[in-house]
Amino acid sequence: MRAVRTEIIEADREGIERAARLIRTGGIAAFPTETVYGLGADAFDADAVQRIFTAKGRPADNPLIVHCADFGMVRRVALEIPLAVERLSAEFWPGPLTVVLKKRPEIPAAVTAGLSTVAVRIPAHPAALALIRAAGTPIAAPSANSSGRPSPTAARHVYDDLNGKIPLILDGGSCGVGVESTVLDLSGGEPVVLRQGGCPLERIEAALGQKVKTIGRENGAGETGQSAPKSPGMKYRHYAPACEVRTFGGGNVSEILKAHENCVQKNLKSAIITVEHRKNLYGDGRVLVLGRDAEEAARNLFRVFRDAEREYAVLLCEELPEDGLGAAVNDRMRCAAAGNELKNEN
Ligand code: AMP
Ligand code: MG
Repeated sequence: MRAVRTEIIEADREGIERAARLIRTGGIAAFPTETVYGLGADAFDADAVQRIFTAKGRPADNPLIVHCADFGMVRRVALEIPLAVERLSAEFWPGPLTVVLKKRPEIPAAVTAGLSTVAVRIPAHPAALALIRAAGTPIAAPSANSSGRPSPTAARHVYDDLNGKIPLILDGGSCGVGVESTVLDLSGGEPVVLRQGGCPLERIEAALGQKVKTIGRENGAGETGQSAPKSPGMKYRHYAPACEVRTFGGGNVSEILKAHENCVQKNLKSAIITVEHRKNLYGDGRVLVLGRDAEEAARNLFRVFRDAEREYAVLLCEELPEDGLGAAVNDRMRCAAAGNELKNEN
């Protein structure tokens, strides 16, 4: 790939117009959303979408999410809109909920990794919405990191991963949610959560008035010999910083301290990652605080990973309670830990 000059520009009117022009003319650009930064292309342009995969080093069988500005655009992407989408969208759109629906034939196979379904959402970030409107087309966008790395929650993170590989990054400050959207499959009979994320499971269940199944990464992964994995991208290394990550069930203070001590003996610089009110349990241990609660932890997790990889060899992560955004934070920590064992297939 020929190196390009990567510019970071403010996500103001002029910046958004420049990025929109790039996308309208078959290019790609990184932009802020409320979850993480995305790397976008015209969802109807197979060649442009291919550029995303090349820049990220993303495996071709990992489908992208299509970002729309309004319901009219969703109809240009999805073949049918089940009743559940109307109910959920009233409460969660714009916002961090992605739904998987049957796709229209106009959406190229590259976007959906050859699946007959497409993932769609309406993002809540004003710059993202303005960009989609100015481009006049739905924007296919995965997270704007190198494949396998922690997702970017600031323009700088995008630059650190993709400098020389993409022309433009719109800088809209730090992302408010900090973890990716929840992915909910509504293309079959029963709704199924394929990925926990910024929209908590309990809130989806309350809106639908029913319990909703979640499919573990191990089930969605397609590594168990399943012929048609539900969420193909899940099998790959994800969210992993350039150091070792280990996770521990909540409340496992003595285990974590033991692991910390082990690292000290092996001369490995390690840090414990937890929330504010549990910090003191670790005495002299080096603690990196994610925030006061699950929402703050979600907002800060990937930044803490990216900062910590420069300094530490091992990160010992204490899992949060599973409710609210805790489920998404735990999922990302566990995946980052699994990334140490999974070979990077990208
Ligand atoms: P990213 O935007 O990088 O967080 O990746 C988008 C994720 O959405 C993928 O890894 C998939 O897990 C999921 N996804 C996208 N399209 C589909 C689809 N058609 N069916 C199931 N999952 C999907
Ligand atoms: Mg991603």
